[in-house]
Parts: sequence; C-alpha cells; structure tokens
Amino acid sequence: MKLILVLCCVAVSGSAPRGRRFDNEKLFRVTPENDNEVKFIKYLDNLMKLDFWKPKYAHNITPKTEVYFHADAQQSNVIVELLEQEKMKYRIVFHDLQKAVENQFNKGQKSKKVATRYHEWKEIAVWAYSISLKYPNLASLVQIGETYEGRPMLVLKIGNQKAKKGIFLECGIHAREWISPAFCQWFVTEALRTYGKDKVMTKLLDSMTFHVLPVFNVDGYVYTWTNDRFWRKNRAPTVKDECTGTDLNRNFNVSWNGIDFDKTPCSSSYAGSAPESEPETEAVSSYIRSNLSSLKAYISVHSFSQLLLFPYGYKEEEAPDHKELEQIAKSAVKALESLYNTTYTYGSIFSTIWTHHTLLARNQIQFPAPLLTGPMTLALSTHSCLNYVMRVIMVFCFLSMTSNRPARRQCWP
Ligand SMILES: [Zn+2]
Repeated sequence: MKLILVLCCVAVSGSAPRGRRFDNEKLFRVTPENDNEVKFIKYLDNLMKLDFWKPKYAHNITPKTEVYFHADAQQSNVIVELLEQEKMKYRIVFHDLQKAVENQFNKGQKSKKVATRYHEWKEIAVWAYSISLKYPNLASLVQIGETYEGRPMLVLKIGNQKAKKGIFLECGIHAREWISPAFCQWFVTEALRTYGKDKVMTKLLDSMTFHVLPVFNVDGYVYTWTNDRFWRKNRAPTVKDECTGTDLNRNFNVSWNGIDFDKTPCSSSYAGSAPESEPETEAVSSYIRSNLSSLKAYISVHSFSQLLLFPYGYKEEEAPDHKELEQIAKSAVKALESLYNTTYTYGSIFSTIWTHHTLLARNQIQFPAPLLTGPMTLALSTHSCLNYVMRVIMVFCFLSMTSNRPARRQCWP
C-alpha cells in the first residue's frame, strides 16, 4: 500500500444518468403536528405505498419530526389535494426530480478536481489506483473481494502502513447516496494534500492507517448511473425472481434474525437470505475480522440528514462504551458547530432514529453493523458540504485514536 494524492488521471464524463426517468415526480416534506397527522401520513402510505426518504418507514414517523417522501406525478396530485383537505402544512422540496437529478450534472461536472463533482465507478477505480502509485509511502490499494457482478472491491490504506491502529471508513453502502463515495474521495485527497501541513492530519496519518472503502456497493452504484438514480440495494438476485437486491446495511451478522427484520425481497431494506449472504457484506466482514486487532473504529457515511450516530441500533440498551461514544460525538459536533454553525444531532441509533415510539415497531437496523459491538462505530449521515463532514471525522478519529479502550471481540464472530 502506498500513498495518495489525486485526481489528475481521472477522465471527466459529465453525462447525466441514463435509464429510469423521474419527470414531474416530487419530493414532499411534511412535519406532522400531532398523532392525528402522523396517522394521516400512515394512511396515505397505506393508500399509495409512498417511497419514504426520511424516516425509512412509516412506522418510524412521530409528531414534530420532518418526514420526506417521494411520489410520482399522479400520486402527487392526489396527495396535494388530500393534504390541503386535512389542512396539513407541507412543502414540495423538488417539483421535478428529473430536473434535480440532471442539475447534479450541470454543477461542476466539467471540473477536473475530484471533490467538485460525482464520479462514475470506473473513474473512482482509476483514481484509487493512481493514488496508490502517486503516494507509495502513504497509500496502498488492496482488493478485498468481488461484488456479485464481478467488480473489484477496493480499499485504499492511507497513512502509516505499519501502524498498529487503524480506522475503517466505508462509503456508498447505499447506492443512491452519492455524496458518500464523494466524501471518501474527498477525505483521501484532503488527507494527503494536508499531510505535512496540517498538524492534526499529519499526526493522524503518522500514527494510524485509514482503511478507506470508497464504494461498498459497487454494482448498485453503477446501476444508479445506468438505470435508476434512486436504487439502494446491491444487484444480486433474491429468492423472488422479480425482485433484485439486498440492503447490504442489514445483511451483517448482527441481530440479523432480530424481531421484525425485513424479509421481503422486494423491499428496499431486504436483509437477505442469511447473514453475510451477499458477497459484498462477506468481503467487508472478512476484512474486518482479519484486521480486528488493529481496528479501533468503523465509520459508515450516509445521506441524507445531519446525524452522527453510534451503537446500539437494534436495542434500547446502551452500548458498554456509551458514555465515551457520546462524549466523542458531542465534541465532534461542537467542533463542527464552532467553525460552520452547522448542527448535527448525535446519539445512539436507537434513541436518535428509532425513538420510543418506534420501539413498538421493533425495527432492527444493523448499520454500521460490522463492529457494532467491537471497536467504536459511527454512522454519519449528511447532506452538508464535504468539509463539514471532514471536520467531524477528523475530530472523531483524533479522539478515538487517543482512546485506550481495547477493542472487544466477543461479539464479533
Ligand atoms: Zn444510507
């Protein structure tokens, strides 16, 4: 593994995604004021099977929290009529999702700088390789497995290649969350660019290794560029012929068969036929297992929201290192706010996403599952500028690196 730096050999594609179109489809935002309004949204969902962006399921909706859902053009007319009939406040965030998707390509897509635009998978693979060549002392490239469709899963090891401490940072487990792989690319680029100039970054890279998986769900990511911009799962077949893909985030061997886990193959949160049934999840899990003695943290970057989350996600009980995680999250969020005035909500996944209301729904979530009960685990959900995220990660990494807490193995098979 070798070093890093950048982007110059990446070709610029600059074309909008092909495949499924979203003409006149809309994204709604509604904040239900009370239980009756929550019930009404659930009723709408029963009626037309809404595509929720936040929260993920109707049963996680609570009063006074924002709900985002996507509806096709026909549904949208009915929804507007019904919301107005009920006198509920709402906002249409995107009036035409197709235009929003295309706009992503008009902004900065001609730039040669890595962090100013989204990149197709092939460009990311070339970029990763070029980084390892350009920074032989600080970066190296490892293939940790293959996706269902046979694409390589690439990890860039950045920093001190012989360090005894490491952090695993993964992006793009959910195919449609494009800002996530963009963040991983930006992180690597910035880390290498500032090495030797920025004190904290230099100390981090000298004393540890970042294992960066820029695209976890490569097949799904490719599919969002070629067929469906809002695809989330991987692309492996399921037991049901007409339904493709498993939600890799729910396929880890952590509380996999928990109460109410998603076993519907057509669902965008389908947990798969068995723990680690998917080659992508199995590859990451094996890599984590073989590096468990050095890994001190696992970070998973998602979108959208501004959340900094830590275990547990599948039960109400606090993780053994809850206080330490909370302190670190608090410091990271505070540091971010002091610079950019941007507020992230932090806490355990269970208490932050799955509130007491949703305890009844008993939903299970595994992300970021692999080290849920091992080293520190963090899920970061963002729609912010990348430098905001960078700040959180840096503070988090710095604090977790300086922690002496031993990694616990007992729950990691
Ligand atoms: Zn996600």
